[in-house]
Amino acid sequence: MATNITMENKTIARTLRLLSQLMELHSENPFKIKSVANAAFKIDKLPYAIAGKSLEELSVIDGLGKSISAKVWELLQKGSITELQDLLGNTPEGIVEMLGIKGIGPKKILTIWKELGIENIGELYYACNENRLIEAKGFGLKTQEEIKKVIEFQMAGHGKFLYAQAAPLVRKLHEDLSLWLGISEPAPLLSIAGAYRRGLEVVDELVFVAGLAQPEQVKAGISRFTPLQFDAQEEGFLIAMSPFGLKIRLYLAPADDFYRQLFIHTGNEAHVEAVLENAGQGPFKSEEAIYRQAGLDYITPELREALGEIEQAAAHQLPVLITDEDLRGSLHNHSTWSDGVHTIEEMALYCRDTLKLEYLGLCDHSRSAFYANGLNEQRVYAQHQEIDALNARLAPFRIFKGIESDILNDGSLDYSDDILKHFDFVVASVHSNLRMDEQKATARLIKAIENPYTTILGHPTGRLLLSRKGYPIDYTKVIDACAANGVVIEINANPLRLDLDWRWHRYALEKGVLLSVNPDAHRIEGFHDMQYGILVGRKGGLQAKQCLNAFSLTDIEQHFSNKKAGILNFAR
Ligand SMILES: [Zn+2]
Ligand SMILES: [Zn+2]
Repeated sequence: MATNITMENKTIARTLRLLSQLMELHSENPFKIKSVANAAFKIDKLPYAIAGKSLEELSVIDGLGKSISAKVWELLQKGSITELQDLLGNTPEGIVEMLGIKGIGPKKILTIWKELGIENIGELYYACNENRLIEAKGFGLKTQEEIKKVIEFQMAGHGKFLYAQAAPLVRKLHEDLSLWLGISEPAPLLSIAGAYRRGLEVVDELVFVAGLAQPEQVKAGISRFTPLQFDAQEEGFLIAMSPFGLKIRLYLAPADDFYRQLFIHTGNEAHVEAVLENAGQGPFKSEEAIYRQAGLDYITPELREALGEIEQAAAHQLPVLITDEDLRGSLHNHSTWSDGVHTIEEMALYCRDTLKLEYLGLCDHSRSAFYANGLNEQRVYAQHQEIDALNARLAPFRIFKGIESDILNDGSLDYSDDILKHFDFVVASVHSNLRMDEQKATARLIKAIENPYTTILGHPTGRLLLSRKGYPIDYTKVIDACAANGVVIEINANPLRLDLDWRWHRYALEKGVLLSVNPDAHRIEGFHDMQYGILVGRKGGLQAKQCLNAFSLTDIEQHFSNKKAGILNFAR
């Protein structure tokens, strides 16, 4: 039989290298691992192609020997190696992908997989952000930061960025551009536009619009702007690339056309078209004037998605959207009792003294989340004693006794009713067995929603933006079940999650379901993520009265006790 004469040495070497990594990952004989790795190295350096050689010829190549030449022969004959296929079959896909990350070898990946329960790069990135790696054997802050950087670099390779990742760049560019434009123009008009201004969770470009007395002159001198190189043009835009690979588009308009251009480059196409049809060509002194001219109430950028907002604006029925200032407390947060960085007291004091909130909902992990030091029954009681003591000291501020209960495979919660009844509220979330089909995932969630102790459904799909798809769910059925059982749906405000997706907020709110902007904070800085939850909540049309953690302390106490008594709660 003729061997595969087209397979390059590089491919053969890469395959053997993967084999050696997987052998190491599965703790096989170190001597064998070394010889396979060594053969990979040797083949890569050979000055001639080995495809087309006979088994006998292969076996005399330096570093191959009898057993490895047999593997190479199999590879050339069949295009794969049985041993490699077996190992691949026993390794989650995401773990294999991790082997391709520079700087973490199989040993570290084994710890990540077996001790931290992490199975793909998205989860690994999330864990870095939650500081979970520094606790593990063989890791430290430095390794964690390095891994985080490599993953961010990989993510950037796709040209897409989380809103939160782009935010510092937007601020910096706005500053640099307005300074630079200010040199030749007395009062330049400048604003971010595009998807970022609409508050989309992921952006693939940043659009800036400037209004200038002499746009052509400024354009001619743009090469002197040093923070970025605007070295291309596209449909009237100046184009530059940020050092991390995010595309920047700058539009220079005559000053009297600024607001019209800002408007055009902010809303999505359908929205812009529909409004301009009635507003005419201007000139306009503000965006408000454009809407007024079109016979509409002013529509805030987050809503400019052509999802019914124009009809609402015409009927003077736009929702009064929630703002950061409306929040009165923070639910779903972790402490050192499970995988958090700060103590309950530190978390509470930060909420009370720095954020001026009235309450904190503490939701450490439940017992099945072994990798996150989840609480067994004894530790639940001990934690409740600590909370009672803190509440006595911190009143009128209140810490609610919550738990983030794993939703088990069959949809049941992680404790018996005897334990569950002691919590003030329960956030129910899926953390394990994420690979389910839609029917299974939906049934699993609905069973948890129907549990009388479930107060809030946590991160409903488990997605990690740009890195892990959520499990598929039937949104309508899940939301309907929440409505029928008075269960609140979380907007997990971590910028990687933003789950429930804002595209489903309207439907939930129409059904009378309350939403809750939960930071899922694992340290005090994490509370600030609530701003991203508010942003997508605004996109979804969320009003303060429909948001659980915008309730006053008295109202939320009432809500929790109603729920425990089986009384349904609805958005007011
Ligand atoms: Zn969770
Ligand atoms: Zn959590």
